[in-house]
Amino acid sequence: MNELSSAKLCAAAHLIVGDGITALAFLEHCTATAGDLVVVIGKQASALGRGVAYATGTPGTPWRYAYLLNSPAYDIDPAFADWLADRWDAVRETMAGRAPDWLAWADPLVAAGDIQGVNAPREIYGDFIEEQAKKAIATLAARGVEVRCVDASATALDVEGGQVTVHTDIGTTFVAQSLDVAPGGPSTLRIDGDDGPFAAPTVFGQEERIAEHIRAGAEILCIGGNAAMLDVLRLCQSLVPEDALKFLACAPEGELPEPLIPRLPRRPLQPNLSRDHTSADSLLAEVERTIAYARDAGHEMSEIRAGFRAYFLVNPLADHLTDKAEALRVPAHLRLWLRGGTRDTILEMRRLIAENRTEILPGIVTKIEHGPDGAVVRIRDTAGMETTRKTGFVVNCAGAGARSTYDPLTQDMLRQGLIEVCPISRGLKVGAQCRTKAPMVRHLSPATTVIGEDVTAMPLYDAHMLRTYAARASQAEPAPT
Ligand SMILES: Cc1cc2nc3c(=O)[nH]c(=O)nc-3n(C[C@H](O)[C@H](O)[C@H](O)COP(=O)(O)OP(=O)(O)OC[C@H]3O[C@@H](n4cnc5c(N)ncnc54)[C@H](O)[C@@H]3O)c2cc1C
Repeated sequence: MNELSSAKLCAAAHLIVGDGITALAFLEHCTATAGDLVVVIGKQASALGRGVAYATGTPGTPWRYAYLLNSPAYDIDPAFADWLADRWDAVRETMAGRAPDWLAWADPLVAAGDIQGVNAPREIYGDFIEEQAKKAIATLAARGVEVRCVDASATALDVEGGQVTVHTDIGTTFVAQSLDVAPGGPSTLRIDGDDGPFAAPTVFGQEERIAEHIRAGAEILCIGGNAAMLDVLRLCQSLVPEDALKFLACAPEGELPEPLIPRLPRRPLQPNLSRDHTSADSLLAEVERTIAYARDAGHEMSEIRAGFRAYFLVNPLADHLTDKAEALRVPAHLRLWLRGGTRDTILEMRRLIAENRTEILPGIVTKIEHGPDGAVVRIRDTAGMETTRKTGFVVNCAGAGARSTYDPLTQDMLRQGLIEVCPISRGLKVGAQCRTKAPMVRHLSPATTVIGEDVTAMPLYDAHMLRTYAARASQAEPAPT
């Protein structure tokens, strides 16, 4: 909806930048009153809620619906899980006959009465979220608040005289009393040569080009071992049968995350950590012991991860470790120890590795060179030794890397000192309730690691966590004691 593109200036009560689930959560909790105009500015604001992860795929492509949520539906949002179960017949129809055979993985859970435990296609979660966005807009309209969604990119902002001005790439400038910025995570780390005849700098939006090479029988080398790598595997599986699959990954640890396997009855771990730690090492040792006991007691990683996530949402790190510099050392470890991912694809990948049909090369890709019929990647292993490997096509799914770069508005906010990069966790640092140095501007991203006195124990690259933190940011500030 770009109806404002011809106007040069638009005054609103409140602005939201972003079109993902965090922007939607800010809208759902927005306190605008009758007569107010709220403007949502996002690259795809007209599909508010989907953001990057839950976008609508291209109709008719084999890989449409191939990308899955990384955890069971109930873990993303119990309301989504019930919504999915209510529409199961329609979902079954949509997914029938697709490769990889998603229904074959879902069927045992369905038979066990656990539709809520499936790893749903991300686009289907996006359908649910978009429905929530429409409901939120209707609820605000019933309160007399107009919401306008404008497809545009916000490029910079000025804060002056109690109001905030946001500049966009469509030439319209927006002015309001307050602003929420929910721009998503940092960009993928660029690697020398990752955009060329035999390499793509990302998988998303590049599928047509990558598919040509997969169909032609080229080997696909994916840089990175995270969720996006699993998406590339599924892209390949959607296009060629298993005996024609030529896929491998290169990742620093050379390891896969653990599959998040659902079970009935649900038994999330219930940690209860001591509150008198004086160092990160001592808290981490207790977490490590708790994880080991949980494993001995037969807990699945899905239960351990969900238990710690719920625990730290109620019991912030600061309650266990008052030294903030020490607390900042904790999240990087928990991120690694509580790493989990899509059950279907990780178990598939494990099987393919066991059958020598694929592999994960340990190391870091430092450069990609393009030859006449493929690419050569330079790989540095953990000992610093460099090797090369000839391959067909390279897809960069490396993640953000240590020196993250962000969207233009966040970069502008960093330049102005409105938000900061935490020197220890390397994540983004905002004030209490996600306020920036200009209190009428809030910022929340999956990369946020410090919110006021709260150090987020587990990364916010998680739909449930982001929605929780956006809701909290909108609660009334506690009275000073
Ligand atoms: C591919 C992928 C898969 C994922 N899978 C899962 C999963 O299975 N489960 C899970 O819990 N989490 C998953 N995540 C983590 C994900 O980050 C969060 O779940 C959540 O989607 C993040 O929402 P967000 O609104 O903060 O950011 P995003 O979804 O990234 O949305 C931000 C949006 O704002 C737009 N934007 C940014 N800057 C500007 C600007 N300056 N002007 C206008 N628009 C702007 C962007 O284009 C983007 O669409 C995944 C992430 C990715 C990238």
